[in-house]
Amino acid sequence: MINRRSFNKILLGTTALSLAACTGITEVSLPANKKRVVIVGGGFGGATAAKYIKRFSPDTEIILIEQNKEYFTCPFSNTVIAGMNKIDYIKHDYKTLEKKYNIIVMHEKVKKVDGATNTVILENGKVIPYTKAIVAPGIDFKYEKGYVEGSEKYAPHAYKAGEQTVLLTEQLHSMKDGGTFVMVAPQNPFRCPPGPYERISLVAHYLKENKPNSKIIILDQKNKFSKQGLFQEGWDKLYKDIIEWRSVEFGGKVVSVDPKNRVVKTEDEEVKADVLNYIPDQKAGKLAFDSGLTQGDWCPVNTKTFESKLVKDIYVIGDAAVASPMPKSGFSANSQAKIAALQISRILANQPVVNPPKLANTCYSLVSPTYGISIAAVYEAQEDKITDLKDLGAGGLSPAYADEGIRMQEAEYAVGWYKNQMSDIFK
Ligand SMILES: Cc1cc2nc3c(=O)[nH]c(=O)nc-3n(C[C@H](O)[C@H](O)[C@H](O)COP(=O)(O)OP(=O)(O)OC[C@H]3O[C@@H](n4cnc5c(N)ncnc54)[C@H](O)[C@@H]3O)c2cc1C
Repeated sequence: MINRRSFNKILLGTTALSLAACTGITEVSLPANKKRVVIVGGGFGGATAAKYIKRFSPDTEIILIEQNKEYFTCPFSNTVIAGMNKIDYIKHDYKTLEKKYNIIVMHEKVKKVDGATNTVILENGKVIPYTKAIVAPGIDFKYEKGYVEGSEKYAPHAYKAGEQTVLLTEQLHSMKDGGTFVMVAPQNPFRCPPGPYERISLVAHYLKENKPNSKIIILDQKNKFSKQGLFQEGWDKLYKDIIEWRSVEFGGKVVSVDPKNRVVKTEDEEVKADVLNYIPDQKAGKLAFDSGLTQGDWCPVNTKTFESKLVKDIYVIGDAAVASPMPKSGFSANSQAKIAALQISRILANQPVVNPPKLANTCYSLVSPTYGISIAAVYEAQEDKITDLKDLGAGGLSPAYADEGIRMQEAEYAVGWYKNQMSDIFK
């Protein structure tokens, strides 16, 4: 049987030079005394993990593999759609991680993380051995009901930020006054439970200022949503008569969609949109499936370490992981990355894993540029479950019917939260 050492020897002969040329890695092989963590996905989860493992375990070689040179955050992408910020506001790169933290960053697409040989296989055929791997690929979409790959050109989901954000912004900004903006909101579980409703709020803000005769219809594939009371209070106050929310039970259920013509068929009628923001149901990123890390749509993990329950030495963090009751959020991914980084660093130093520090999530949403609401939670992770500590009094929601000063303050905190997260991850 091939073992890791002999495998590395084979590799050295075939791929070392070409990898060295494109990445600055001088050796692809992994000498017995060297530890290497390969992280795939440079988003909230992966980039945080790279930085924190380097901090906890400076002698470990860290390779971060991300297919794109720039990362556009979904947080604050709704402000771009509403014209409050330009796309550059949500753009980040990996230069500081490379230069300041000495992390090897490769911009490549990964085909598979192979737990049988402890190697990462790139789409271009190159192979990189690892001691431990972290997989943080985020989400992919379920293409069904007529929404297929390519439909996002006509009916953008804008649920991965960047090009899609720009497209939805252009469509909204060129919509006629008096037009109808239709959103199809996904079933649970999905990335950022309050995300669709923050988007609706900020689209309503944009329409009220720029195209006041327009309206919004939300066809929701569920009957309730995150921070619903707070959003609806804000909508009543700021956007009366602009927003119509239809739950799945009361007219929201989508039967099929014609993205090109922007027509959505529900059980009762055909809804014609001028701009159609179709957010499909979701599952773990493709890489997780191709690497054998999924059970159903998502990746089961040991929640004390975030190691996959299915493949040894691979850790899954962020949206792709099953970490309920934590929501699939950037803050959750950042929090989980730190736990995985801590435990991996301990294992590499031959120390036992510890009961992890508490996990947390805070999520701010803007109902308007000066009207913020939030939810916060603290969690405890044991091996097989994560517990929300709300019964101990941790976390909470913004107060209902608070005065304008409090809403304004929360909108300012939202900006502060974003700046802090970006600095924690990329600086
Ligand atoms: C509209 C909206 C608003 C949001 N607002 C908030 C908010 O206010 N607060 C909050 O906490 N969260 C928010 N979120 C959620 C947040 O964006 C996600 O939860 C977070 O991005 C998840 O991080 P991740 O690391 O799991 O995945 P991602 O951030 O998506 O990163 C995955 C990375 O992996 C890369 N990748 C995937 N496959 C491969 C491969 N095969 N090879 C190489 N690279 C690969 C991708 O290019 C990507 O960069 C929002 C989401 C949306 C859609």
